[in-house]
Amino acid sequence: MTDTYDALIVGGGIIAAAAGQHLTAAGYRTLLVERDDYGSGTSSKTSRLQHCGLGYFSGATGSIAAFLARPRTVIECFDLMRRAMQARAEFVQAAPERVKPVTFIVPLTRENAIPPWKARLAFRLMAAADRGKVALDLRLLPAQEARAHPALEGMAGLQDIRGAISFTEYQYHWPERIVVDTVMKARAIGMEALNHTAVAALMREGELWGVRLTGAEGAREVSSRAVINCAGVWVDEIIALAGAPHIRKNTGEKGTNIVVRLPQRLRGIGFETVTVAGAPFYLIPWGELHYAGPWDSPSGGGPDGFRATEAEIAAILAQIGRLFPGFGLRREDVLYAWAGVRPRSLASDGKSSSAAVRAHDLTDEGLPNFFTFTGGLLMTHQDAGRRLTRAVARRLKPSGPPRPLDKGAFRIADIDHVTETSVAQAVLHEQARSLSDILRRRLRVGWESDLGLSHAETAAKLAAPHLGWTPEEVAAQIARFTEETVADFTLRAPLP
Ligand SMILES: Cc1cc2nc3c(=O)[nH]c(=O)nc-3n(C[C@H](O)[C@H](O)[C@H](O)COP(=O)(O)OP(=O)(O)OC[C@H]3O[C@@H](n4cnc5c(N)ncnc54)[C@H](O)[C@@H]3O)c2cc1C
Repeated sequence: MTDTYDALIVGGGIIAAAAGQHLTAAGYRTLLVERDDYGSGTSSKTSRLQHCGLGYFSGATGSIAAFLARPRTVIECFDLMRRAMQARAEFVQAAPERVKPVTFIVPLTRENAIPPWKARLAFRLMAAADRGKVALDLRLLPAQEARAHPALEGMAGLQDIRGAISFTEYQYHWPERIVVDTVMKARAIGMEALNHTAVAALMREGELWGVRLTGAEGAREVSSRAVINCAGVWVDEIIALAGAPHIRKNTGEKGTNIVVRLPQRLRGIGFETVTVAGAPFYLIPWGELHYAGPWDSPSGGGPDGFRATEAEIAAILAQIGRLFPGFGLRREDVLYAWAGVRPRSLASDGKSSSAAVRAHDLTDEGLPNFFTFTGGLLMTHQDAGRRLTRAVARRLKPSGPPRPLDKGAFRIADIDHVTETSVAQAVLHEQARSLSDILRRRLRVGWESDLGLSHAETAAKLAAPHLGWTPEEVAAQIARFTEETVADFTLRAPLP
């Protein structure tokens, strides 16, 4: 490995991966460093939607005049919606094997009723944003048809709804794999990447940034002309490492989802509404099951933010109970739950969070060639990679020639089964180091209904010769994977 880079990327979530791919393609000699595994942070705790951006119009559900009276907010909403729609078209067309279309239904209750013309206008604007490349399939259901829709059967206040809208959202099969795909495609064009290695210190050394990396193999020093801080909810910690603890750009927002079995008539259908607090709330199909949420609360990047609490699980059950009293769901019906902390841009008041997605160049704040991304989302990750590359290009020229950028899925033999070949591929070619790297982020089996527990032993034994695991280490890896699964998914009983 070389020791001086054009760009050091801190983090290995979706934003870091996209930044790495775009910077490398632009000719920057790039090193990406992730302290855990690629895609194991917030990028693995999402609602898995490649949203169309309809939610950005939520401010316009009331009076249009009141919405337009805040022109800055209007411009921001349109910009976010436009980026969401363009990213949807870009991803769905480039990597169709990583997403699937899901029909969502939104009942128009008294609280969130919008007239049909407003819904049509919103969807026309959205279709214009991606030039109709990927259909939204809007349907406006009149009240009578909506009341008879099987997905709304048993809904509280059904007799009072004014109608419903249905449209197509795309769901990622598996966001973690998209992160791994993106890192591997960047490596294929020359990026260097280290997982299970942390950026432990950053200091200015002349025109360069000196960087101390620590990992299982010990510490090493590298230097870089630029630092690209893509540490998600931890970006402020990285800014502090660089010597500017007074600069704050991020605020965290915890979101929790639970997994339940809903009546057969809802199979494969998504349901969307808003909570009494005005936050979006979904029932999203997941095989034969659904996940419900998110339930949001403020949080930093501490471990508590990455575990669903009993109070949050109870709040989601109560919300489902308010919507569909007939489901009668209880705590024991919750198969598992997960939580994560969204990185959100800190608003200009320095306290609240903003929906804005920002690439900050901190040069003028005392950190030369130091870039930080805030509010980044899975769904607009390619846009994030391009924005960061443009920000870097305004300060530094790449040291190498441009390279081809491939936005499609990374093609490998078999990611759906645990076999000698698939495990060897994960370890030897995709940098998997632990059982959860293999089962959760290289192969899809970690997302089967038992969360991969039944594959742990086979995968550990197949990985052992490649990773030099002794029989004791194999047992320890299986135990660690089981413990992590129980803790990360708040498991109370064995999964069916
Ligand atoms: C409940 C919930 C639902 C969501 N639903 C959606 C959705 O449906 N669609 C969507 O588009 N988005 C969704 N999001 C948002 C999305 O998940 C995040 O915004 C996105 O994953 C952030 O990616 P990231 O790369 O910025 O952060 P992360 O994925 O957290 O990556 C940051 C990485 O930095 C690493 N790191 C930190 N410190 C260091 C260090 N010192 N050295 C090296 N590495 C370090 C961490 O280990 C981590 O892996 C949701 C989020 C939540 C919480």
